[in-house]
Amino acid sequence: MAFSLNSYPITYRAKYTKTGWNEEYIEKPHKTPQEEAALGAAEADALTASRNFYPDMPLVNYTSQYGLGCFEGLKALPQKDGGLAIFRPGENAARFYRSMEGLLMPPFPEDAFVRACVETVKRNAELGFRLQYKSEWERDSFMTADSVYIRPFTCAEGGIGVNVSREPWVIVINNPVSAYFSGGNADAVVTDRIRATPRGTGWIKANSNYVISTLAKQEALKEGFMECVFLDATDRKYVEEGSSCNIFFYLRSGELVTPELGDTILPGITRSSIIELARDRNVRVSERKIAIDEVLSDAGECFVSGTAAGATPIESLTYGGKKTVFNNGKVGDLTADIRDTLKGIQYGTLPDTKGWMTRVV
Ligand SMILES: *Cc1c(COP(=O)(O)O)cnc(C)c1O
Repeated sequence: MAFSLNSYPITYRAKYTKTGWNEEYIEKPHKTPQEEAALGAAEADALTASRNFYPDMPLVNYTSQYGLGCFEGLKALPQKDGGLAIFRPGENAARFYRSMEGLLMPPFPEDAFVRACVETVKRNAELGFRLQYKSEWERDSFMTADSVYIRPFTCAEGGIGVNVSREPWVIVINNPVSAYFSGGNADAVVTDRIRATPRGTGWIKANSNYVISTLAKQEALKEGFMECVFLDATDRKYVEEGSSCNIFFYLRSGELVTPELGDTILPGITRSSIIELARDRNVRVSERKIAIDEVLSDAGECFVSGTAAGATPIESLTYGGKKTVFNNGKVGDLTADIRDTLKGIQYGTLPDTKGWMTRVV
């Protein structure tokens, strides 16, 4: 299981009050990592539950009732030299700030966000909860590599009347993860569902956006696909995103296309990093509208991008019952190059020439 909830003991919480953000680090129940690894299933489950238990959280609040909340996802990666480093936390801090503003909450300061991410990873590492780099990950381009997923999120104050959150909490947890799209096929399907509408919240990393994408992804999985792809709400013809990732098409003309940002597309940090990497290679990159018909006739390669997904190749896309296979079902050269370069920078096997990595230890 790639995303099971087995969070590390140290978490962070900041509560907003009229005087500002009151911060604390919380040490949840734990044993040593070795002792925890030796626990039976029932004991391990109980420990996991105790880590996820916050008795002073208001159960009835604007997030639990009305979905008014947002979150982030970023990773701390074990480095080849033995350290740990976080990929572009300042970008997530800036997006979190915009998301909170978009939901009319008092935004969380960007420097506090980065500090909380670094500090939780560091404090967990000091307790022994950390991952070690394994050279065997290099054999499959880090497809099976582990990382610490950092999940900052908001929780609203208690309330039942429909309202925005004026005194939110920001919580940061660390959760070790393995590969996201593990094994299986790499087939995607165009869903009929609509993820985001103009003037809606599609550009915000909002909890509520995940309702539709979770349903659509579940339907895709049930039909035997790995991923679903959304079209725009208005014309029902332009490709927008995967279920929780951005999407790229490498056309046979040599143009790399990803849908242009707007209020229905989530501005992915992996997306913008890939655009830079591709431009460094003198690939012509366009952020523009791309119709599903153009994709099906002209794309030679396709991949989705996100913190969890990295750059994950899509082998085929099914639309209206017709399956189109990219690059004869093989991972394309540009896709592989981008994926490997990104992973190399993230895990420290390639030099961090862009200053993307924030060192923790
Ligand atoms: C988080 C997310 C992405 C990917 O963003 P990254 O910053 O690359 O992780 C893409 N689409 C949606 C809808 C998302 O929620």
